[in-house]
Amino acid sequence: MNSLFKQLIVSFLGTLFVILTLVACQSQQTTDISPTLSPTSPATPNAQTQATPTPTSRIITRPVAYVDRSLSTNPAQLAPLPYAYAALERAIDADTMKLHHDQHHAAYVNNLNNALEKYPQLQNSSVEALLQDLSSVPQDIRTAVRNNGGGHLNHTIFWQIMSPEGAGQPTAEIAQEINQTFGSFDTFKQQFNEAATSRFGSGWVWLVRDRQGQLQIVSTQNQDNPISEGLYPIMGNDVWEHAYYLKYQNRRAEYLNDWWSVVNWTEVNRRSQASR
Ligand code: MN
Repeated sequence: MNSLFKQLIVSFLGTLFVILTLVACQSQQTTDISPTLSPTSPATPNAQTQATPTPTSRIITRPVAYVDRSLSTNPAQLAPLPYAYAALERAIDADTMKLHHDQHHAAYVNNLNNALEKYPQLQNSSVEALLQDLSSVPQDIRTAVRNNGGGHLNHTIFWQIMSPEGAGQPTAEIAQEINQTFGSFDTFKQQFNEAATSRFGSGWVWLVRDRQGQLQIVSTQNQDNPISEGLYPIMGNDVWEHAYYLKYQNRRAEYLNDWWSVVNWTEVNRRSQASR
C-alpha cells in the first residue's frame, strides 16, 4: 500500500515536471522571436508587400528597388528605361544604354528566373528579401541569385537615379547631409570617384545609409548589392566596363567625372528619405 502510494507520488511529480518544462519552453520561444517586433523595425505602409522578415538585424524591411515597392520574382521582369536611349548622351551614349539595358540587364532578369524555376516557393520572396538573406537560398542556386538578383536590383536602381534633367550639383536635404558628412560636395565626389577607380575589376560604387543612420561610401564586387551587408543603397554607379567601354574605352576616370552631369538628385533625395 505504502509503495503504491510512493509510486503514485513519483509519477505525479514526473508528469508535473514534464508540464512545467513544456510551459517553460513555450515562454522561451516567445522571448526568442520578440526581437522581430522591436521598435527598430520600421513600420512602413508597404510592410505587407515585403517578404516576411526573419529575426536578424541585417534585414532591411523598407522598399529598396523603388521607394514604394520591392522587386518581384514572380516572375522577375525588365521594366522599360524611364527615358530614351539617347537621353543621357552628355555622359552615356545611346548604343551603350541600349546594350546595357536591353542585353545586360535583360540577361540578369532571365537568368534569375531560370535559377528560381526549380524552387517555386522562393518566387513568393522579393529580390531584396533573397539578397538580404542569401544563406537561406538553396546552395545550388545561391551564386546565381546573388549575381543575377543583384544585377537586376542594381540596374533597376541605376536607371532611376539618372535623368536627362539631372544636374551636377546635389539639391535639397541630400546636399546638406553630404556637406555635413563629407565636408563638401567636391570632397564627397572625389571620395566616391576614388572608390570607383580603385574597385579592381567589375563592381559598383555606392552612397549608402548604414545601420546607425550615417551616410557612407562603399564599393561592392561583381553584382553584389549593399543590402546583403545590411546597408541601404541610396545611389550607385556601375563601374563594369560594359557601362562605359564603347565611348570611353579604358578611361574609367573620365566616365566617372561625366556621370555626375546626369545624376537625378530628385530621386536620390527620395531614396535618402526612404532609407531613414
Ligand atoms: Mn551594368
